Amino acid sequence: MSSAATKGHNAPCSNRDFDFFYRGLEANRLLVQRCADCGTLRSLPSPGCGACGSLDWNECELAGDGMVHSYVIHHHPPLPGFATPLPIALVDMSEGVRILGAMDETDPATITAGLRVKVEFVRRGDIAAFRFRGA
Ligand SMILES: [Zn+2]
Repeated sequence: MSSAATKGHNAPCSNRDFDFFYRGLEANRLLVQRCADCGTLRSLPSPGCGACGSLDWNECELAGDGMVHSYVIHHHPPLPGFATPLPIALVDMSEGVRILGAMDETDPATITAGLRVKVEFVRRGDIAAFRFRGA
């Protein structure tokens, strides 16, 4: 098990595919993987490119703006650190990759497909995280 100092973040998930993402959040940066061979962006992090199969990738910082593609309102079971109802949105980022993120602090009644959103960096306890807010 890596320590927070060596992996660069406090998130409970730590492996060679996800650590860059959580280190990015520590620096208020939303990062995804960009295939080094074909340029395809991907999220969630994964070992290989779904488009060409390459195992080589680079970090790509997103500008943080996007549009809600779809969403759900989570009611049950309770999630530690979150109030319910909790909106969770699948967002088409301006760079063309989709990201799943919480929309806590947003009235669920105001969320629709097509809503423009921006990333907001937050801390959940000692873990760096992000959420989407209406732009
Ligand atoms: Zn590729």
